Amino acid sequence: MLFHLIFILGMVLETCLEFITKILNILHLKNTSQKQNRELKNVFKTSYLKKIHNYIKTKYSYSFIKDFISLGLILLVIYSGLFIKLSIYFTAHIKSPLLAHLVFIGFISLILYIIFLPFSIINAFLVEKKFGFSTITIKIFIMDNIKALILSLILGGGIMALVFAFILKFKNTWWLFAWGAFTLFSLLMIKIYPTFIAPLFNKFVPVQEKKLKNKIIAMAKNADISVSMILKNDVTKLTKHSNAYFTGMCKNKQIVLFDTLIEQLSPDEITGILAHEIGHYKKHHIWYMFIIQTIITGSGLFLVKQFTALPVFLQAFNLPEVHYITRFIFTLIFINSFLWVLQYPLTLLSRIYEFSADKFSFQITGKSKFLISSLIKLTKDNLANPYPHPLYSSLYYSHPPLIERVKYLKNLK
Ligand SMILES: [Zn+2]
Repeated sequence: MLFHLIFILGMVLETCLEFITKILNILHLKNTSQKQNRELKNVFKTSYLKKIHNYIKTKYSYSFIKDFISLGLILLVIYSGLFIKLSIYFTAHIKSPLLAHLVFIGFISLILYIIFLPFSIINAFLVEKKFGFSTITIKIFIMDNIKALILSLILGGGIMALVFAFILKFKNTWWLFAWGAFTLFSLLMIKIYPTFIAPLFNKFVPVQEKKLKNKIIAMAKNADISVSMILKNDVTKLTKHSNAYFTGMCKNKQIVLFDTLIEQLSPDEITGILAHEIGHYKKHHIWYMFIIQTIITGSGLFLVKQFTALPVFLQAFNLPEVHYITRFIFTLIFINSFLWVLQYPLTLLSRIYEFSADKFSFQITGKSKFLISSLIKLTKDNLANPYPHPLYSSLYYSHPPLIERVKYLKNLK
């Protein structure tokens, strides 16, 4: 009974917390008046706030439906016994337990993909188009979906096959090998993502704008960092949302700008943003986060190992009759149902890093006014919420709300 309670409560609380805080977020934005934000006085006109209110409301309505369908589906598949029946079916019809479980996982993933596909279509072709963001065509949408499916089949299938092989080979120590495999896989992704995966979806070309390029090079030199390439990618064909990032490691460091960003911001503003991104690199935030994620993965796998050998847990969910790999998959779902409690400390840490990178940008460029103006422009152009509810932002915002960043940057000396 205790395990059922933990599982159901974990799943329901996660969905309900998100639902309630999103409602609070909408109400908070509606009630926010200009007098509440001295720092952003006259920046956001009432018409803008109305538009962002509509945008968020529309996005949330779809995500509410999606979240509750997800919750219902997981509970239905587990409590109708379908999960166990499917596992028994596949292991009975496919001789190799490894292959049987790969097909089992692939089958469930495909069904989930088909169920949630209409939501991606609605988002890309109705919501984002209605608010003037999406520029994607049906052809690009289909091609990108096919590429993503093939990639998840190769990468996801590959890592799962490896973990299942460890489970079959090392009865007691598989979790250590699986942990090593997940860690190496994440490291490999950092290395291959910019060079092999991202170019599958977007075209990357060197930035030609001379003034912008010179400013970025001077700033990077100031930050004592060697950048091998400054690239821009063609997201204009997909969306009008904009972004910039710093990627790669060792000698392969790249700065990537969305072409939409170059249209929206001045070279000084882009340099301010990039100095912030380089700040994350110089202050090793990416590696600290990587270490924390690795510890969470290792602890999660250790817990899975302990639970899969716990008779009372197995009895509670009728798992003794299924293969050990099925137990592993189920326990992973079980552990995942309450892992969201780590969300608050993780976003808190991430927001501390964001302030630290803002400070770095100020120190390297010598001023914060360009970073401030770029943050305001990006908030406006992306219809982002400048006044999120404190509870919502503390749970789900990896970046501090705009008003806090502007206040922080204005006070830097
Ligand atoms: Zn950042």
